[in-house]
Amino acid sequence: MVTRLVVKKKKERKLKQIAIYGKGGIGKSTTTSNLSAALADMGYRVMQFGCDPKADSTNTLRDGSYIPTILDLLRENGRVEARDAIFEGYNGIYCVESGGPSPGVGCAGRGIITAVQLLKQQNVFEELGLDYVIYDVLGDVVCGGFAVPIREGIAKHVFTVSSSDFMAIYAANNLFKGIQKYSNAGGALLGGVIANSVSGGYQKAIVDDFVAQTNTQVLQYVPRSITVTQSELSGKTTIEADPTSDQAKVYRELAKRVEAHEVSVTPKPLDPRELREWAGKWSDQILAVERGEVRSAGAQI
Ligand code: ADP
Ligand code: MG
Repeated sequence: MVTRLVVKKKKERKLKQIAIYGKGGIGKSTTTSNLSAALADMGYRVMQFGCDPKADSTNTLRDGSYIPTILDLLRENGRVEARDAIFEGYNGIYCVESGGPSPGVGCAGRGIITAVQLLKQQNVFEELGLDYVIYDVLGDVVCGGFAVPIREGIAKHVFTVSSSDFMAIYAANNLFKGIQKYSNAGGALLGGVIANSVSGGYQKAIVDDFVAQTNTQVLQYVPRSITVTQSELSGKTTIEADPTSDQAKVYRELAKRVEAHEVSVTPKPLDPRELREWAGKWSDQILAVERGEVRSAGAQI
């Protein structure tokens, strides 16, 4: 069911568009939804724009319910009015899902291109007087559609969610290549890494080393937390389900850092050989600590 779409009065507000990328399952939608919820609680008008064919970005903003995607609506009706594709979520957050093609057919990024064009053509961002549009984008696949928020300079700042797992870092490094490629042509730049499921020890040391090697920074460390699991099972963000928890404080801190963030940069991705050597160095270090050969402050396991 389409919920009420309130077109709020335009004020002198500056729209900040940001994109959150990262490998599938790394915690993009969880982090993005909590960020949106925290920004909404700070009084901002926020749109969360899910750009993953899974189309599950916004469901914890809507009590666990899924919304029809822009591509679904297009398939059903041949055309889409923006107001039919925008659903209200927690604390007035505008929720949109681009969706994807039927499984096995066409480019998975196609939905993003279509969805972004549609909302732009219909001047939705201006009419709603938004402060933030946050794109939650699957970052494993490097193809035209998934690059749209970066390439067209639609988003100004890109953040990537990564853990210390090599495949997450590998996906982040690929994203950095994409950002670097479009950076001279007015594309989005990198704001930093949101280190998810990173509490300290060697996990923190690995992520810290990776950002130092690639000319970026960690915007926020987000620990792995059972509070997130519990909130998700209740169909809500942690900000909504458990607002006084330590984890909610972490997401509020993240929102403040996003609010204060002004300057993004061109990252320096590692080439395949450098990345292999970097990973090999960490492998040796962890092995040495496990065998008790060395004691490293950064590599406590
Ligand atoms: P993505 O959007 O990147 O595919 P999700 O946000 O859907 O990933 O997260 C995948 C799973 O990991 C979800 O079940 C989510 O609850 C869990 N998760 C993500 N971040 C955390 C965290 N900090 N603590 C506990 N669980 C988390
Ligand atoms: Mg997701």
